[in-house]
Amino acid sequence: MTGSGHIFEDSALALKMAERAHLLAGRIGRPVSLMEVCGTHTMSIARAGLRRLLPRNMKLLSGPGCPVCVTPPGVIDGILSVARTPGVIITAFGDMLKVRGACASLEDCRRSGAQVQIIYSAQDALETARQNPRNRVVFAGAGFETTTPSAALAVMQARDEKLENFSVYPAFKLVPPALRALLENKTELDGFLLPGHVSSVIGLAPYSFVAGEFKKPCVVAGFEALDILHAVNLLLEQILAGEPKVENAYPRAVRAQGNPEATRVTNAVFTAATARWRAIGDIPLSGLAFRPDWSAFDARTVFEISEPDTPEPPGCLCGAVITGRAAPSDCPLFRTACTPADAKGPCMVSSEGACAAWYRYGDPL
Ligand code: SF4
Ligand code: SF4
Repeated sequence: MTGSGHIFEDSALALKMAERAHLLAGRIGRPVSLMEVCGTHTMSIARAGLRRLLPRNMKLLSGPGCPVCVTPPGVIDGILSVARTPGVIITAFGDMLKVRGACASLEDCRRSGAQVQIIYSAQDALETARQNPRNRVVFAGAGFETTTPSAALAVMQARDEKLENFSVYPAFKLVPPALRALLENKTELDGFLLPGHVSSVIGLAPYSFVAGEFKKPCVVAGFEALDILHAVNLLLEQILAGEPKVENAYPRAVRAQGNPEATRVTNAVFTAATARWRAIGDIPLSGLAFRPDWSAFDARTVFEISEPDTPEPPGCLCGAVITGRAAPSDCPLFRTACTPADAKGPCMVSSEGACAAWYRYGDPL
């Protein structure tokens, strides 16, 4: 079986699962919209061509699960003003370099002489601080529950080692409050494919309100095409039965209780705080702020940054894309003014962004 040229690891099984999805969706007999919350799911779905394989009355919509896509332009501008401070080395994950604030990106800053380094983990940022004692090293901390324990650990190590030249610019986000905000805004969704990596840290309990209070089915899914098909079928079964619950279809990586040690480390350094999401706005308790004891490591405090209220790029539909209200191809800039080589919004910049996925693997509609 092929989808966008991709060969499934077990074609016969994929075909059987797709047939089951058609059967279940047919029985439901109305349009069904499911949201894949995580950017890696978005990429896997596009790579395998799953949207073409699934029933016509079923839509898979991308959600706010890519950390780069949800970082608002004002936060990017805040990070840029730190980057422009003499003697600072900014360390950031690769995708963060291309996202623009009001008029520039970290990559632009680097071209004009700022010291910007791509890193793969918070530990890399810490190592840069150890090796450059004369510079102030700042980790541009974008990420979800998967990234925050290692950032917290790096901060703890910096304190133990008395590394006074290390700080973190906290742009971290939490997934469950974003789901609540989506549901409270009455987005028309019938269920959620929940992120595998985030769930391996937080477990299943933080999602219980989605099924309990909002009556929406939830399934934690792995990242292979077959994992996703399996999770889609479990969601369709829940919808058909009218019994929403939180199911774990990724037990090889996710335990119901998550990883309490990772959560403990995060909570030792950070506390939940209101955070601004690109195009969504402020969501209570959806981000992380430094606890007062650790504020010496908070780059916002150290560099006295007050973030501007930078508007979205003109014409960009990223906000609608990450809230499931539009598909990338609905955006008039998609493939024309906005391409990976000249991205207007973060959904085209990020390797986990919905627009990048559709651009790379073809518009499925
Ligand atoms: S960090 Fe993991 S769960 Fe979060 S968007 Fe990336 S792949 Fe998905
Ligand atoms: S195509 Fe570009 S401008 Fe349009 S929503 Fe996607 S990232 Fe934004």
